[in-house]
Amino acid sequence: MSYQSIKQLLKNAPGVDSPVGTTVTVKGWVRTKRESKNAVFIALNDGSTINNIQVVAEAGQLPEETLKLITTGSCLSVTGQLVESQGAGQAVEVKISDVHIYGTADPEKYPLQPKRHSLEFLREIAHLRPRTNTFSAILRIRHALAFAVHKYFNDNGFFYLNTPIITASDAEGAGEMFRVTTLDATKPPLTDEGKVDYSQDFFGRETNLTVSGQLEGELGAMALGKIYTFGPTFRAENSNTTRHLAEFWMIEPEMAFYELEDNMNLAEDFVKTVIRYALQHCADDLAFLDGRLKEEEKTKKKEEQSELGLLEKLQFVISNEFVRLTYTEAVEILVNSKPAKKGQFQYEVSWGVDLQSEHERYLVEKHFKKPVILTNYPREIKAFYMKQDDEPATNSRGEVFGPTVRAMDVLFPGIGEIIGGSQREDSFDKLTARMLEVGIEPEALWWYLDTRRFGSAPHAGFGLGFERLVLFVTGMGNIRDVIPFPRAPKTAEF
Ligand code: ATP
Ligand code: MN
Repeated sequence: MSYQSIKQLLKNAPGVDSPVGTTVTVKGWVRTKRESKNAVFIALNDGSTINNIQVVAEAGQLPEETLKLITTGSCLSVTGQLVESQGAGQAVEVKISDVHIYGTADPEKYPLQPKRHSLEFLREIAHLRPRTNTFSAILRIRHALAFAVHKYFNDNGFFYLNTPIITASDAEGAGEMFRVTTLDATKPPLTDEGKVDYSQDFFGRETNLTVSGQLEGELGAMALGKIYTFGPTFRAENSNTTRHLAEFWMIEPEMAFYELEDNMNLAEDFVKTVIRYALQHCADDLAFLDGRLKEEEKTKKKEEQSELGLLEKLQFVISNEFVRLTYTEAVEILVNSKPAKKGQFQYEVSWGVDLQSEHERYLVEKHFKKPVILTNYPREIKAFYMKQDDEPATNSRGEVFGPTVRAMDVLFPGIGEIIGGSQREDSFDKLTARMLEVGIEPEALWWYLDTRRFGSAPHAGFGLGFERLVLFVTGMGNIRDVIPFPRAPKTAEF
């Protein structure tokens, strides 16, 4: 079988090395068919690029029965001469000499029409969704970003570590978990106290789908130096938001000998590098999504329209330094902000509260107009493993707050938190003391604490939700639209 992808063919604009004049075979799905007095024009797409190739038959060349079967969504193999195109919009086209129909698509039943469909409608026909311009562009960009993630870490001396998807550690408390069990749900074995007896379960203990590979990742870092994970992550969050999925992909680098500052530098360089990769390698798809977003913006009220287009926004992020400030400084800004004074925030803000998305977005979108890295959060609102700060925090009025931990959250416009990370507590005594304070039995995590018992070292890491990155780069509004098969409450049919 010899055929060229449409992407490859379209690169061959007329020129010295061009195969114009040769016979080629293209295969793909019909996007549109247009008949004029002299010819039939078919736009064919094979998914290799957002661009279609035009294939042309002379009027009367194809039998009526064949022509009738070539409709939007049908799949063809076309052989013909590659010629310079007469029409505007494409450099080359294929003059049909032979056409084979692989699969027809009854126009009465085919759900995709050559018009714009709502994203919600498309979500219900997941199998056809990737045939649309919007989703195929998103999926190609998603691929490029995933590749860029692996490339970035490989180029920088990190090792890809696969942490388990089924775990018994429920200690991290990063989110609600999905239970993994083979026990009979209608009559599970019970202990004497009447509780489910997990010692009779498949693993001999209670197990769940992982909410983070970090704890296991730390073991890797304390042996290999620099590792990263990139795998499926699960949270039974019953929050129907545009930024949460029940199944998502998380990237978690973990580095021995890195402190908070190194961690921030890595996070900033990492996201900028992968965004730059997408800009370089997905120009056509990003241009399409940029145009799509501009159309969408036009339907909004003037004050809600964003100042930058998608491409401008991506350029802006990679060419500006992220703002870095402490949680304490951020709270001071928020407390003195206009929306706080006018009572426009839904949630009140004061030192010690967990910042809500509205607060994060105020800082990023209104106050700094740049990505922001917030650090040194109150200990009480962060996970037990974060390194405790020695000094309390003070604000500009000399008020003293604390204790704080060496946490960092990277906040992005339109998204809010895209990365959460920290330097880790490397003192065995401080870590176990903190675990007892928050009610985690150190014994249950003996294997984790061993890294602090034997050859402990400063180390740090972070978690980036891959879909939040794809959301940002594609400019889409709902996280369900940047993963091929979204998992969310009541959504798991396909
Ligand atoms: P949020 O406060 O936004 O719910 P989180 O603080 O619970 O997030 P972390 O536990 O810090 O999230 O996880 C690290 C990263 O994983 C987050 O910064 C985010 O990018 C991503 N993430 C977390 N939960 C989800 C989810 N349900 N769906 C998609 N991505 C997620
Ligand atoms: Mn977080």
